[in-house]
Amino acid sequence: MKFNKHLESIKTYEAGKPIELVVREFGIEPKDIVKLASNENPLGCSQKVQDAVSAIVKNMALYPDDSMIKLKAGLSKRFDVEQKNIIIGSGSDQVIEFIIHAKADENTKVLVNSVTFAMYEIYAKHVGAQIIKTASQEHNLDEFYDLYKKENPSIIFLCTPNNPTGDAIDAADMMSFLEKIDEDTLVVVDGAYMEYAKYADDKKAVEPKELIEKFKNVIYLGTFSKAYGLGGMRTGYGIADELIINELYKLRPPFNITTLSLEAASVALEDEEFVNKSIALNFEQMKRYKEFANEQKLDIIESYTNFVTLCLNQNQNSTKLADDLLRRGMIVRDLAGYGMNAIRVTVGTSEQNDKFFELAKQYL
Ligand SMILES: *Cc1c(COP(=O)(O)O)cnc(C)c1O
Repeated sequence: MKFNKHLESIKTYEAGKPIELVVREFGIEPKDIVKLASNENPLGCSQKVQDAVSAIVKNMALYPDDSMIKLKAGLSKRFDVEQKNIIIGSGSDQVIEFIIHAKADENTKVLVNSVTFAMYEIYAKHVGAQIIKTASQEHNLDEFYDLYKKENPSIIFLCTPNNPTGDAIDAADMMSFLEKIDEDTLVVVDGAYMEYAKYADDKKAVEPKELIEKFKNVIYLGTFSKAYGLGGMRTGYGIADELIINELYKLRPPFNITTLSLEAASVALEDEEFVNKSIALNFEQMKRYKEFANEQKLDIIESYTNFVTLCLNQNQNSTKLADDLLRRGMIVRDLAGYGMNAIRVTVGTSEQNDKFFELAKQYL
């Protein structure tokens, strides 16, 4: 059977290994498995969210509120932007998909960082767009600008802080970069980890309101999957000029966010105490990873997120380490597929991190 020819060059995205798979493959009890592979919140989600979702579980027969009024009102208040500047996706992943379909095709190019979130490239390939990558591992805006001039991409993706490396762009540098980009090039600023960056360093904090007031060609992305602890609810958002949002809306399937997800995200937004506690714990525990890296003589990339990237030495192998950990019930992300001899580890609770240090030491 013949399929869409653009799909030939796509390798199916491998999300972090689920706990269920480790149970089946290695016969380990779920309670003995620690998953530090997908940058989920180790504290789970807010109790208030759990209560609110439980209270509406009986409403499942009805289609969701497709105007998403409650969540849009919450986001509008949080970011001080108008509701017409917001689109909600089934994860910000879905907003990325809309963006690619709205702006790219076989005749266009998409510019991304050399090492970055894999979904940009996968969605770009869906439509046959050509992917252009910078050379440096960290976002180098001079390289981005040179390639922009040379290749004339229709979309530029900036991921700050970047996944899977954890580094972040200075907001001021990004603003000057955006000044130099023409109005017909769409720039995506993916802030999936922005709550963490903002806490760690003011200079990295990007404000969607400022972005969209200054630039008509920029869209900011956020998600409830990381700091808010709602990965299982698949809810993310885009904030941009109304003209961009209207185009993306043409691609949105109706009822793309479930009733339970809409409620969860709306309530999560209000429980700032939970998010702040999660982020504070994250950076407390991250110190221990820096000490661990020091002890083990490994490089650790300065992280503005809820994960760390540990770069192994030449005589060590990230795939072997990740496999070895997996067999003992510890799931981390091997970055060999990104051309790095490194692993990405989500910062967990104190006990989860203890377990990682203990198991990783045995291998290293
Ligand atoms: C996790 C992540 C997303 C998307 O998460 P969703 O769960 O789809 O909202 C987007 N960008 C980056 C860089 C991420 O790490």
